[in-house]
Formats: sequence, structure tokens, C-alpha cells
Amino acid sequence: MRVAVIGSGPAGIYTADALTRQSREAVAVDILDRLPTPYGLVRYGVAPDHLKIKSVARTLRAVLEHPQVRFIGGVEYGRHVTRADLARSYHAIVYATGASVDRRMGIPGEDLPGSVAATDFVNWYCGHPDTEVERFLLDAEEVAVIGAGNVAVDVVRILAKSADELRHTDIPQPVLDALAASKVRRIHLLARRGPLQAKFTAPELRDLGALDNADITVRSEQLDIDPNGEEMLGAARAARTNLKILQEWAERTPEGRPRRIDLRFWVRPVAVTGEERVTGLRVEETEFDAEGRLTGAGNVDTLGVGMVFRSIGYVGVPLAGVPFDEATRTVPNTEGRVHDSTGAVVPGDYVAGWIKRGATGVIGTNKSDAAATVRSLLDDAPQLRAASSGLIPIEQALEGSGATVTDYGDWLTIDAAEAERAALLGRGERVKLLGWEEFYGALGR
Ligand code: NAP
Repeated sequence: MRVAVIGSGPAGIYTADALTRQSREAVAVDILDRLPTPYGLVRYGVAPDHLKIKSVARTLRAVLEHPQVRFIGGVEYGRHVTRADLARSYHAIVYATGASVDRRMGIPGEDLPGSVAATDFVNWYCGHPDTEVERFLLDAEEVAVIGAGNVAVDVVRILAKSADELRHTDIPQPVLDALAASKVRRIHLLARRGPLQAKFTAPELRDLGALDNADITVRSEQLDIDPNGEEMLGAARAARTNLKILQEWAERTPEGRPRRIDLRFWVRPVAVTGEERVTGLRVEETEFDAEGRLTGAGNVDTLGVGMVFRSIGYVGVPLAGVPFDEATRTVPNTEGRVHDSTGAVVPGDYVAGWIKRGATGVIGTNKSDAAATVRSLLDDAPQLRAASSGLIPIEQALEGSGATVTDYGDWLTIDAAEAERAALLGRGERVKLLGWEEFYGALGR
């Protein structure tokens, strides 16, 4: 069987892994990616200072080097190849394109210069080739980060660390220089609900509390738990652990470190203010109403921030020719089998990862998620094989598509160029090349 996987992030690579580890069908897998670099969110989402999480790339690398797997880079689904092209070359297509755009707050002033999506900021410090190095000038002394998830924590940590603390990471040198010039001194981290409802996980919170370059504050009265909360705490170990960490923070006295993080619960953004750029963020205190719904408690104040980072979740983007659910911003599916809004299955189409289940879970979650999709695909294999005969090589569709196609060897060339740059600069194991020109320059194209 020939299977195309669209996207070489963890979901796509774990899909290829599951396809090559089974013995029910002999499968050849092509993993297509719009970038010449594999690993998706591991390379462009996991924070550069989270070296341990990033090391999962070593496991993913073994999959790309499997003899039944090919990496085809530089090919964008919907631009260089269509679903119809792929259907002529493969028995099945697994879309593993993730959730690459930000959720919006829907408040006035959201589009003012200085009000930005965490997704953009993450892309920038991860050196994604689509972002310009000049995209971020961190010239505000006071900033706000909105959201109580792990991405918000990543953003706060990168803003709070000194450039020296980030030197050993793979952050592209011009971005590191921009971070070194950052004027940020005070970071407000704002959560619209309470400590028990926050989505942060304990290891990420601990990292934040262990920063040398920043004090962290939270007011102890914000951590008071009502009887409903007590009941909830009994069952929720993760929330209990978080609360313990937060209680320890509440007892700290700021030590005059270069930066300061103020974590505030029960507050929601109502407007980003400013004329030509952000000069403030209006926030309102919140509470739960009698039905347990979050509601405004009326107290409104304005934080004098010069930048606002919204980190309120990622959502998927529709794929040409594939059903899409606008409400969940995912591809409708049952156990990975794509179906349309009437429930009719689209034969040969499957999904894995965030485009399948939404932007939740950690990298490892994608392993079992991909395995479930592959089980469905293998169950359908006899029908899929019967439905497609006389497949033509994908190379035929790619010829004249305008794609600058790259392979795994090309990635190894980029990989080596990044290691060389790190050695030259006296930094860690890798310093990322920045932008398409540098990629193609390294490849001599
Ligand atoms: P997330 O965990 O879903 O957190 C989003 C946060 O935004 C929630 O606190 C949510 O609050 C809040 N929010 C949503 N809409 C809002 C609004 N209109 N106004 C104010 N707040 C709003 O998403 P994420 O942080 O983007 O992370 C995505 C996934 O990646 C998660 O599974 C995360 O654990 C994972 N991740 C893991 C790591 C790691 O393991 N180190 C690092 C980064 C990301 P409500 O709960 O009230 O909706």
C-alpha cells in the first residue's frame, strides 16, 4: 500500500511509525511537508530552552530513516499538490497538519500594532521561515500575556529570561540579538478563571518559578478556594500540585531581579487601548455565576502595557477539498476516518494530531492518537487497495507544480549547516538558519 502523510510534525511521523511497525500490510509512506525541515511543532513550537522535550526529534529521526519512509519537503498541500493529485498516487492520505493559527479574543483594539498572537511570537523565536526577524521589537517595559496554558508560560519565560540564559539554545542569532535588546521589565500573566481551572502543567510552572532573571508574584487571596473548589481539588491531582506551587510563590518577597512576572487570576481582557499602537489593556475582574458560568464582576482597570500577547489557544485551518468543522476548527472524523457533515465517510482520507482532535495534549499524546488512526486505515486496507489501481508516482504530479522539492538528504545538509553555525558562534548544538533564503542557500539552490 502507498500512503501519503501530510505534515512531518509529531502526529505525521508517529503515523508513519505506526504504519511501518505493523505486519498486516506492506506499506510505503511518503511524508510531505511544505518546509524542507521536518519535525513541525517540535522544531517550531516547543520552546528553544526546553531541550529535553526537543530531544524527541531523535526518536522521530529514526522513523524518517526507516527504509519504507520518504521525506518530501518543499511541497505545500493545496498549492503544489491537490487532493486529486494525491489520490492518483496513494491508496490513502493522512492529514497531520496541526493547528497553526491563533484563536482571537474578539475585543476592541485586538489588531492594534503591539497586540500580537502568541503563535506569531513563538514562530519568531523558533525561527520559522515565514516570520521576519524585524517582526518583534521588544521596546515596551510593561507587557501582558493573556491565557493560562503552557504556551502562555513559554512566552512569559522567553520574555523573562536574559539573552545569556538563551545563548545555548537554537534561537537564530538575529532573534537572540533582538531578545538581548528587549526593554521588557514587567510581565502581567492574566488568567480569566481561577488557579484550579488553569491549564498550565506543573513542570512548566516550576520552570517559571525557578527563573534567576525574574521575580514572580501572585497574591495569596487569589489562591483562596471555596467549598466547591475544595471538592474539585480532592479529585484533581494536577490542580493540587499547581496550587502548591502557586502558594509557594505567594509567600515570596520580590528580590529586585531584572524582570518581574505578576500572575493574576480572575481577570479577562475587555479592550486593547491606544491610538496608533497599544498603550494599555483594559481588564475586568471575573467570577462564576450561580450556574457556574464565567461572568464579569464589574471591576474594570487598565494596565499600562505597551504590548499584548494573546495566548488563548491554537486552531486548525481548512484543507482544500477536505471537510472542515468551523465550530471545532478540526476535520470531522471518527477514529481518524474523515467524514463530511452528514457523517458520510470520505474513503481514503484520514487525520491525525491536532487537526483531528484540536490543540490539546503533549507531544506523546500524538503517538496513541496516530496509532488509532492507523488501526482504522489498516482495517480499511482491502477496500482501499481494491478502489485504487494503477497508481502513478507522485513525482509526476510534482513536475511543473512550482515546488522546490527537497528530500531527507537535503534536511541533513541544513541540519549540518545549523550545527556548523552553532560552532562558529560558540553557542549550543544548533543555531537555526533563518528564512527560506538561508535554507536554499545552504542547499545551493
Ligand atoms: P490551552 O492549554 O488550551 O490554554 C489556553 C488558555 O487560554 C486557557 O487558559 C483558556 O482559558 C484561555 N483562553 C481561551 N480563550 C480566552 C479568552 N477569550 N480570553 C482569555 N483567556 C482565554 O492552549 P495552549 O497554551 O495554546 O496550549 C496548547 C496545547 O499545547 C496544550 O495541550 C498544552 O499543554 C500544549 N503545550 C505543552 C507544552 C509543554 O508540555 N511544555 C508547551 C506548550 C504547549 P479557559 O480554560 O478559561 O478557556
